[in-house]
Amino acid sequence: MHRTNALIAGGGVSGLTTAYDLNRVGVDCVVAERGSRLGGLIFTDAHDGFLMDGGPDAFLTQKPQATALCQELGLGSEMIPTNPDRQKVYVLYDGKLHALPVGMRLTVPTQWLPFLLSDLFTWRGKLRMLFERWTPRRPQVDEESVESFIVRRFGRESFDRLGEPMLAGIHCGDGSRLSMDVLFPRLVSLETRDGSVTRGMIAAGRQGTAFTSLVGGMGRLIETLAGKLPKGNILLNEGIEDVHREGDGFVARLTSGAKIQSNVVVLALPIHSSRELARGGFPAVAEILDRIKTASSAVVFHALAKDDVQHPLDGYGFVVPTAESNRLLAATFVTTKFPGRAPGDNVLIRTFLGGLKDPEALTLPDDELVALSRRELARAVGPLGEPKFSKVVRWPNRTPQVELGHRTILTDLDTELAKTPGLYVLGNGLKSVGIPDCIGQARATAKQITAFVESP
Ligand SMILES: Cc1cc2nc3c(=O)[nH]c(=O)nc-3n(C[C@H](O)[C@H](O)[C@H](O)COP(=O)(O)OP(=O)(O)OC[C@H]3O[C@@H](n4cnc5c(N)ncnc54)[C@H](O)[C@@H]3O)c2cc1C
Repeated sequence: MHRTNALIAGGGVSGLTTAYDLNRVGVDCVVAERGSRLGGLIFTDAHDGFLMDGGPDAFLTQKPQATALCQELGLGSEMIPTNPDRQKVYVLYDGKLHALPVGMRLTVPTQWLPFLLSDLFTWRGKLRMLFERWTPRRPQVDEESVESFIVRRFGRESFDRLGEPMLAGIHCGDGSRLSMDVLFPRLVSLETRDGSVTRGMIAAGRQGTAFTSLVGGMGRLIETLAGKLPKGNILLNEGIEDVHREGDGFVARLTSGAKIQSNVVVLALPIHSSRELARGGFPAVAEILDRIKTASSAVVFHALAKDDVQHPLDGYGFVVPTAESNRLLAATFVTTKFPGRAPGDNVLIRTFLGGLKDPEALTLPDDELVALSRRELARAVGPLGEPKFSKVVRWPNRTPQVELGHRTILTDLDTELAKTPGLYVLGNGLKSVGIPDCIGQARATAKQITAFVESP
């Protein structure tokens, strides 16, 4: 039986960041990853000169944790902002792409003229959105859905045409169930602090590029993190099949049958994997995690010659409101959004399908999914030539739904985990959503673990 201080299940960004911080302070740890590669949802693939991020393609700059870690790892010179000259984002409405007016930040118009000239909203809808400044603050409520918040502040049309695809769509979820307070606390705090989201955003001013990526794709973050860890401490193709308490510590059984004894176990896994693993040794934890739904999605890339696409692709891409008949959730014009993603006169487009809106899409075999994605893409951007290649990446159950009541789930989880000192549960869709939060959460957990293993 192998012994270590901390056994970390999962070699995604959460698990690797925890290991990186533990290793820096000399706490011995082992990362056990079920798959044959590290990174989990972070997955960069290169093919014929095209660079494809199959999961996240960037991180939010406003939340400092990812930027800080990249700089600390020496990746500062590899960080690239989204293309500042082509910031246009389109919304598919009534079967046509409408550009978001310049100055539109999420659902907030910050520049009058382009907003008033926009053909995405009716005059009635525009007036209602402008009226947000004078809409009274919400009475004291604990938690509100994304739909309720946007409709209350900006009107129904703003939610249906913009808030729903932008705020709920990126979480592949249902806006009437997703928690505004947990997912978008900044917008909520603008209302609380300034009495109006519009006034608060204008007062805050422009805050630079919203998203940052890396020259070689997001996989560089994973390669670099892994490169800072002793090689023998990362186990690939070694899922944790079972973990249970033994004495003051834990014993875990890996896929190969090997056993690891540890003082600490960190489940840095997708939520559905954490709950299945917890089911045997920690059933109360599994029961709490059962309360979080997950959605599945697929990403389909199309690599094309520029001349085979009639649309100028002059923006980051487009989002699709639920009411549209198009089965895409969104699409990214990758080669416009970031430099260096395709060779020569070629373009790369990635589409998103599935989510709670269309789980059937995930049941299609790859060739049908590619055909569906191409057909729906062409309905939005116009005729497309034959792609040089297309590529499907599937993410089953990998988008947790942070719905109303999420805070209670987190409190219950903390209470339960306190009964098993040394057991930590991390990862996307618990206290963190997105890379910066996952990094922040992992670093905070590494501190707690250090204090725990150093305590008498
Ligand atoms: C399509 C998509 C696009 C996204 N885009 C963005 C974006 O642009 N920006 C952003 O900030 N965030 C984005 N996210 C969210 C972001 O990817 C996640 O927040 C983050 O990558 C989660 O990392 P993690 O380490 O917590 O989990 P994961 O990346 O899921 O890693 C968990 C690891 O655990 C492994 N595992 C599972 N079971 C076991 C087991 N029993 N034993 C051992 N290992 C196991 C898995 O193989 C996996 O490697 C996106 C997510 C999706 C699905």
